[in-house]
Amino acid sequence: MRVLVIGSANLDLVYEVERLPAPGETVLAAGSASYAGGKGNNQAVAAVRAGADTRFIAALGRDDAGDRLAAEARAAGITLLDRRVDASTGTAAILVDRRGENSIVVDSGANARLTDLSAAEREAVAAADVLVLQLETPLDTVAEAVRVARAAGTRVVLNAAPAAPVPPPVLRGADVLIVNEHEAAALAGPGADPMTALTAHGCAVVITLGAGGALVGSPGEDPVPVLSYTVDAVDTTGAGDTFVGAFAAALSGDGVEALVAATGFATAAAAISVQRKGAVPSIPTLEEVREFRD
Ligand code: ATP
Repeated sequence: MRVLVIGSANLDLVYEVERLPAPGETVLAAGSASYAGGKGNNQAVAAVRAGADTRFIAALGRDDAGDRLAAEARAAGITLLDRRVDASTGTAAILVDRRGENSIVVDSGANARLTDLSAAEREAVAAADVLVLQLETPLDTVAEAVRVARAAGTRVVLNAAPAAPVPPPVLRGADVLIVNEHEAAALAGPGADPMTALTAHGCAVVITLGAGGALVGSPGEDPVPVLSYTVDAVDTTGAGDTFVGAFAAALSGDGVEALVAATGFATAAAAISVQRKGAVPSIPTLEEVREFRD
């Protein structure tokens, strides 16, 4: 499986706190560390660890953080198609409490400069089996990538996260839309049943439900629930990204059965990840997922 991820790469600064601070409050961290992150980066790592031949298009700054992210992506086995721009590499401050809940602030930095695709990048889209997109890079580029993918017959997995409005042509251009409950409700609009409203765009929809697993929907079909695994979650940071990357790597064949199979694999990968700290360090390999499911 050839997976191409276009998206964000950030340096994550992770703080372990007893509880998340209220507005105006300062809390002391029990510890802190920095990791490679960003939804694009995390999903590329999840795809490559799940066994896919993975390429990743990202905008990085000409700085130490950019060098570190590029080196770590390549060391993970990802073919990184990076562009270096005159902006700081993106950063994120992540607070994780003792129950594994998190609060995150992102400074997009260089990620905001991914404003178009070069000819070589469009070729990479056309050469992939599955294109994975999120919303931490400019929406115009997401839309352009969707158009190129559709023309080339590349399957599009759109993770509409973080929650933001998405133009209907982009939703229609996606083969599979993956969203969590909040993103699903925001995209569907008030009063609408999210699954019904989102599948009306003509794409398959996977709504992730945290410890509740996921719901798989296809236009005109009843949604299929996929249960999660019961595990002790210590840090859910990156669970969604692990799910998306693993899903893309496992997506083969057509129809609801193929979607449910990929969702089952992704649910297992994400269940492993929530039992470990951090985003990238917690993403499992194909072997670990297989062992976990046996
Ligand atoms: P995050 O923002 O924390 O990365 P998310 O909000 O994008 O996650 P979720 O729906 O919370 O996405 O989680 C994604 C998937 O991870 C779920 O569908 C489920 O398979 C798995 N998962 C999340 N939390 C748990 C948990 N406590 N136990 C088992 N699996 C979990």
